[in-house]
Amino acid sequence: MASLAERTEQARRCGALRFVPTSMEVIEQSGIAFQVRIVESLARKETATAAGSNANPFLPFDPDLFVAPISPTHIALLNKFNVVERHLLIVTRSFEDQRSQLTQKDCEALLIALTEIDGLAFYNAGREAGASQPHRHLQVLPIDAIGPLPIDAVLRFAHPQEPVGAVPGLPFNHAYAPMDPDWTNPEKISGASFHACYRQLLRAVGLSVDAATGSQAPTTPYNLLVTRKWAFLVPRSRECFRDISINALGFAGSLLVKDRSQAETLRRVGPLTALRHVTIPTPP
Ligand code: AMP
Repeated sequence: MASLAERTEQARRCGALRFVPTSMEVIEQSGIAFQVRIVESLARKETATAAGSNANPFLPFDPDLFVAPISPTHIALLNKFNVVERHLLIVTRSFEDQRSQLTQKDCEALLIALTEIDGLAFYNAGREAGASQPHRHLQVLPIDAIGPLPIDAVLRFAHPQEPVGAVPGLPFNHAYAPMDPDWTNPEKISGASFHACYRQLLRAVGLSVDAATGSQAPTTPYNLLVTRKWAFLVPRSRECFRDISINALGFAGSLLVKDRSQAETLRRVGPLTALRHVTIPTPP
């Protein structure tokens, strides 16, 4: 996706892109240096207004935000309200419910994006998992834009004996799987293999898995995070810790707050404790 930087520049120039300025603080807990981004006051009103709209922003999408076709079923768009540079949305061409399980075609689109961009792909399955839009969208942030992921400090201790396992020290139900390097090799991309891995992650945390490949039933909310090296899935109990909305990025170690008082709450309570409150306890 060589055109990503170029498309970003064009979208910025024509006003389609609304960068949300933030300042950043680091708050450490249990060996993880969480990055807490605080929205600057002038940007708060505009993002709140945008979030309040009921129209589907992806159907039709704004052509000024279009980046590239990904596959016959998915396209790549720029996130209109980006906090991090080159934030990409991988959106289904026709409406699919954000709460239903990912299909093989979603998995294929995610892998295609990750072969092009060394990034963090993530999925907020449902409102309680932090999704603001009901139309199916995966998201990708380039690692060179977001920086090293704080969660890697603990993920590097995960060495599951099985294809899917747990990460020592994380105080909530989750499942981790190393990624097979072949899955993001452009010659060998296999949506089927990664889809099977995704279904194993769901099973490992106790979520039901649809029998049909093209599933439609809403599931329990969860967050999925995927890089070229690993995949990580966390079931959710609720969207917010107090008034702080948490999505998949929280589980990468990166939290977004509306103001300094929310950042202060995280400093007092600890970001890992906040994550524990919006998840499900580790089964005995
Ligand atoms: P989420 O909130 O995680 O469900 O992700 C949806 C993303 O879509 C949000 O981060 C919004 O910034 C973004 N968004 C909202 N409206 C538009 C739009 N018109 N075009 C592209 N992205 C949008």
